[in-house]
Amino acid sequence: MPRIFVFILSAVSFLVTTSAADDISARAHKLHFSSIVLDTHDDTTQRFFSKDYDLGKRNAEGSVDIPRMREGGLNAIFFSIWIDGRIMGAAAVQKALDQIDAVRENVRTHPNDMVLARTAAEVRSAHKQGKIAALMGVEGGHMIGNDIRMVRIFADLGVRYMTLSHFYNDEWADSSTDKPAHNGLTDFGKEVVREMNRQGMLVDISHVSDKTFYDALEVSRAPLIASHSSCRALCNHPRDMSDDMIKALAAKGGVIQINYEKSFLDQAYKDASDKETGGVVQSLGQLTKDCNNDEACIGRKMAEAEKKLTAEGKLPHVSWERIIDHIDHAVKLVGADHVGLGSDFDGANMPEGMEDCSKLPKITDALLRKGYSESDIRKILGENTLRIMEQAERVSREMQAQ
Ligand SMILES: [Zn+2]
Repeated sequence: MPRIFVFILSAVSFLVTTSAADDISARAHKLHFSSIVLDTHDDTTQRFFSKDYDLGKRNAEGSVDIPRMREGGLNAIFFSIWIDGRIMGAAAVQKALDQIDAVRENVRTHPNDMVLARTAAEVRSAHKQGKIAALMGVEGGHMIGNDIRMVRIFADLGVRYMTLSHFYNDEWADSSTDKPAHNGLTDFGKEVVREMNRQGMLVDISHVSDKTFYDALEVSRAPLIASHSSCRALCNHPRDMSDDMIKALAAKGGVIQINYEKSFLDQAYKDASDKETGGVVQSLGQLTKDCNNDEACIGRKMAEAEKKLTAEGKLPHVSWERIIDHIDHAVKLVGADHVGLGSDFDGANMPEGMEDCSKLPKITDALLRKGYSESDIRKILGENTLRIMEQAERVSREMQAQ
């Protein structure tokens, strides 16, 4: 073959293999696209209620849809069931059910690409069929409406984890971003954790106060998950976990899933953001009022404000490589068995270079470059989460047999 053709062919194949996620190595590409890549926290559910959004098409806004999941090799995803933490009681239950139905309907209407998964085995089976496994996590204990029966009903509908609180305390658990009201978990809160164990639902300690975390760690018979939190040693945010907490979580088999939100990753950004907006809780509270609870409006306005402040130089640039710093910190602290990915896509401000899920192969490439083994990278990408799901399923079987 003439040399010029060889050159053109290799240039074309280079473009084909690298367009999906900038220029990653062939080894990273192969590893990433043969792994189960499981993200434990995505707020894409809110978009299902917008007429402008289509899960099956590439959307100009947001971070997650089927075409970009395929491009980024994201083949297992926890869709978050989230409502404002100040909505309580029957209204909270109703809104949670609306969202669970929206996830299930979006999965049902994309049967060639997606399948609802409730167990680790079902995630693996979806992967074998070339489908994306859709899972659900309820983000905030306020959504059970202070009624333990809702834990069982949510579990039956396919919810596989519940975050014990959101930004505000609920009736039975203190939040990391509210004034303590219950000294951690109340007795009822401890009952909720036991019922979650019995249902095989992972207990998620992202968002909770440090005391709630230690209470949940003591009560839970299954390992805990931090579905979307980063490391406080690198960025001192109450939403992140201290080294002591990460060690305690890992000692009981749990996994910290690194969050990509800029103010949880980067201290300079967090400090500047606190100064400009009063921080994430305050700015979300204000936007909720301004937008009259319209989630699409809140997300849009938050992104606009962030973009404007960054352009004006009031907020520093944060590179996606800070995600790698947090993964590496946690791995050095407790080992690769206890770290995973919990992006917070569609619910947070993403760092530059990780704007959407099509960019995920860059994480695999960066970890290979750092000298991580392929087996450790597979664990971080998804196997650790599958392991603790299996453990939670085992605990559930034991408790139900008693
Ligand atoms: Zn969250």
